[in-house]
Amino acid sequence: MENKGKIGVTTENIFPVIKQFLYSDHEIFLRELVANAVDASQKMKALALSGEFTGDLGEIKVVIELNEADKTLKIKDNGIGMTEEEVDKYINQIAFSSAGEFLEKYKDQIGSIIGHFGLGFYSAFMVSEKVTIETLSWKEGAKAVKWSCDGSPEYSLEECDKADRGTVITLYLDADSTEFASKGRIQQLLDKYCKFMPVPVVFGKEQEWKDGKYEDTDKDNVINKIEPIWTKAPSSLTDEDYMKFYKSLYPMEDEPMFHIHLNVDYPFNLTGVLYFPKLKERMAVDKHKIQLYCNQMFVTDHVDNIVPDFLTLLHGVIDSPDIPLNVSRSYLQSDANVKKISTYITKKVADRLEDIFKNEREKYESKWDNLKLFIEYGMLTDEKFGERGLGFTLLKNTDGKYFSLEDYRKAIETEQTDKDKKVVYLYATNVEAQYPYIERAKNKGYDVLLLDCELDSHFVNLLEQKLSDSRFARVDSDSIDKLIPKEDKLEPELSEEKKKELSELFKSVLPEGNDYQVEAQNLGENAEPILITQSEFMRRYREMSALNGGLNFYGELPQAYNIIVNMENPLIQKVVEANDKESPLLRQLTDLALLSNGMLKGKALADFIARSQELLK
Ligand code: ADP
Repeated sequence: MENKGKIGVTTENIFPVIKQFLYSDHEIFLRELVANAVDASQKMKALALSGEFTGDLGEIKVVIELNEADKTLKIKDNGIGMTEEEVDKYINQIAFSSAGEFLEKYKDQIGSIIGHFGLGFYSAFMVSEKVTIETLSWKEGAKAVKWSCDGSPEYSLEECDKADRGTVITLYLDADSTEFASKGRIQQLLDKYCKFMPVPVVFGKEQEWKDGKYEDTDKDNVINKIEPIWTKAPSSLTDEDYMKFYKSLYPMEDEPMFHIHLNVDYPFNLTGVLYFPKLKERMAVDKHKIQLYCNQMFVTDHVDNIVPDFLTLLHGVIDSPDIPLNVSRSYLQSDANVKKISTYITKKVADRLEDIFKNEREKYESKWDNLKLFIEYGMLTDEKFGERGLGFTLLKNTDGKYFSLEDYRKAIETEQTDKDKKVVYLYATNVEAQYPYIERAKNKGYDVLLLDCELDSHFVNLLEQKLSDSRFARVDSDSIDKLIPKEDKLEPELSEEKKKELSELFKSVLPEGNDYQVEAQNLGENAEPILITQSEFMRRYREMSALNGGLNFYGELPQAYNIIVNMENPLIQKVVEANDKESPLLRQLTDLALLSNGMLKGKALADFIARSQELLK
């Protein structure tokens, strides 16, 4: 008996809407249909498990069949199937009207949410001119039925002769969707969306090389791993298992440094495994490496609104049925569940780092250089992580030794406290370029940190706020005595006129284009005649604004240098006395100072070499 009918009230325009709005994500139809088949299969297994079904379960699997020539695609399962009443209820009434409601409700934001949320069964119409369902319910005495619809709101429902339990969905691909009538394309989609679904998904047969060509074997080509690592108990897994899983997700990537297994079922459900990749440059990191799943079904690799920004630097998998996927991205950020999830992940990441810091310090130190960027970025951008991070931050000095914040303070406190009771953390950003300054500091008994990471100028600011009574100063930001002033030292007393004279004398031989501040200091008879330093404050803000995209007040200023003239040095005394702008000694001393800062270039450098040879004659 054939039963014809019209579907729902809102359906007149469903199909055009489906096709029109969802054009960008047509490919998700396959995910939706396979997910339904997987659901039906799992329900069947549950019925057998509970004893409600006592017959032969058979080999539960979902099979995808493509006929490239006919342009038909079948999704077959041996799950619970549907009775005629169920088809009427779930497909004709509920599903159609809910699809209508759904479109009505979200029509403004449909583009942004459709990648997350499919229309279920109806997404089949995004790619098909006709769809049929042949199904036989598991229930005693059920009759097989065939539902068929050609994209108009009219469908037909009739009995058919399907003999085995389950459902076959057949898509007659439309002219715009012939791309899906390709084996390669379907394989690709199955790999993307179905790789970890919990029931075997089969597409064709495994092949083997025989007599000079590939031939089908009789073994099913199973797309998925039905028990991915994140569904297992951490105690049952080895480091090697985690590494293997990582390789299966990202075959081209270097080995990660650590992993974290996430597992929580209250107050929300979330599992997953996250990995710390080796990070060298923040900008170079591909942020779409965390994959979001919902009950082992791939949803998206754009988790930006679900985890805090810094965590998107991690790789791995998160699986949660509790992340609302049928809402827009901006809504996600304010969703309470999503906030809880993001807080939880941040906490877990901090716990894990703290654990390695405390219990495997050697390993932690050996990975620090690659971990640092992630931790600093996290501490700078996430307040909670900023607090926690102080507990597992390491400082590395220019000798390559690592310290916790606490240990480092203890180590330098005695020597490096200034007259205002501030502990001064000296640092270099480039050991080669700042070598003479580092040596001077070391000779004085000070320690020098190495802060050469792109975020360090911001990070130093953060540490100054978090560590009480502390100040950071780059070794070349002043003469060594002034970097950590111990007591008020007598400065050379010069009249204003003398100061001006001194300033003019030195400026006359300094390269153009920079700002110079000439300053007289007593640094001792044997110390350098001239030191060139850069104000900590100005330099740091210049670097920070460069990192933030440049072009603000600090970024536009010319480079500013302090020229510290050591009035106790005998050579300087000679030069100052002569006050001769043409004096070779004046030029030679200035050039030597420039040279030691890597600032002597081009013609000035050539002149210097010629002059030096002349002086040696
Ligand atoms: P959803 O899956 O979100 O409920 P769908 O439109 O995809 O919405 O499906 C509607 C209903 O149709 C399902 O809830 C299920 O009861 C039934 N259904 C769909 N596909 C199958 C299938 N392969 N086997 C059995 N029932 C199915």
